[in-house]
Amino acid sequence: MSHSLFLLPGDGIGPEAMAEVVKIIDHMNSAMGADFVTDTGLVGGCAYDAHGAAISEGDMAKAMNADAVLFGAVGGPKWDAVPYDVRPEAGLLRLRKDLQLFANLRPAICYPALADASSLKAELVEGLDILIVRELTGGVYFGEPKTITDLGNGQKRAVDTQVYDTYEIERIAGVAFELARTRKNAVCSMEKRNVMKSGVLWNQVVTEIHKAKYSDVKLDHMLADAGGMQLVRAPKQFDVIVTDNLFGDMLSDVAAMLTGSLGMLPSASLGAPDAKTGKRKALYEPVHGSAPDIAGQGIANPIAMIASFAMCLRYSFNMVTEADRLEKAIANVLDKGIRTGDIMSEGSTRVGTTAMGDAILAEFKALSA
Ligand code: NAD
Repeated sequence: MSHSLFLLPGDGIGPEAMAEVVKIIDHMNSAMGADFVTDTGLVGGCAYDAHGAAISEGDMAKAMNADAVLFGAVGGPKWDAVPYDVRPEAGLLRLRKDLQLFANLRPAICYPALADASSLKAELVEGLDILIVRELTGGVYFGEPKTITDLGNGQKRAVDTQVYDTYEIERIAGVAFELARTRKNAVCSMEKRNVMKSGVLWNQVVTEIHKAKYSDVKLDHMLADAGGMQLVRAPKQFDVIVTDNLFGDMLSDVAAMLTGSLGMLPSASLGAPDAKTGKRKALYEPVHGSAPDIAGQGIANPIAMIASFAMCLRYSFNMVTEADRLEKAIANVLDKGIRTGDIMSEGSTRVGTTAMGDAILAEFKALSA
């Protein structure tokens, strides 16, 4: 069965990192019997230069019809002054909105070879493998009213609205429980029910759906601030963490930093399963940006992009063995001391983007033989 992949490399180091994924896709097609059909579009600054928009309607339609979208990165100083609604990030926001990608998956995996690069003690993070499931389309970032009002007495009042409906909590909790079943079968739900009504409802809904549909999964609840503390005190206690948009934004960045460089971190954003096909809309992207400071130099770390493709294999195509092998290939290459500049350490071999991609592909081939 063929799988359609829509590639949006974007700006800066995005295309350099994506090129390394394309090599893996080509290998899987030519030597492993995979049938990926790829198409490539423009997003971000390069789309603005070509079409005057952060993503064209034609490319939006292709993204909507693809089985999965692989996204590189967008932005750069060249486009700092373009109008707000066509700024590079608008392309990513449009994709998330139109594809209704409500579940953001951010793994924090600490490869043993990089444990010393963490800001925490190596024994706290070595072998760390947690998954933060963040609600992405609701909550305080989107709630109305969202205003700044002049009170007329020299004061202004800013209002953001934290708002969640039952169905929004149910569907994100469902994603977390289902993913936990494929991992260590434990979910920790984080909110602030002690001070927020949305936290009270969040807690109730997660508890109810757990009882009704997922009672085989271990469920804990934690206040989000305590969760932040626990993440830096003893991160390995967690398997899957599910939380809202705002807390997820912060907690996933905290978790990310446990593992070292931005160049290592993949992510996935998933939508609801299609009623007919059961397939979820999905977009996979590294957490890092377009890194204009190193773009075009061939030194960017492609691991976050390659690990995002591994997530795509796992979550969009259920190619679990291949995803495991690709992740193992990354770990093996790191074990051999092969490093891009951002994760360089004494005694390791410094390589560029292409050589890192080649090393991972060679390891992936060896593991698949
Ligand atoms: P950034 O992630 O691009 O870079 C931060 C630092 O990390 C830089 O020093 C960069 O060289 C380094 N870095 C990032 N990824 C790396 C990699 N793969 N290999 C080696 N080093 C890497 O964040 P920034 O500098 O704040 O933003 C740069 C541009 O990217 C801005 O225009 C910003 O708006 C945009 N941005 C886009 C996204 C996205 O596309 N999803 C996310 C964040 C920032």
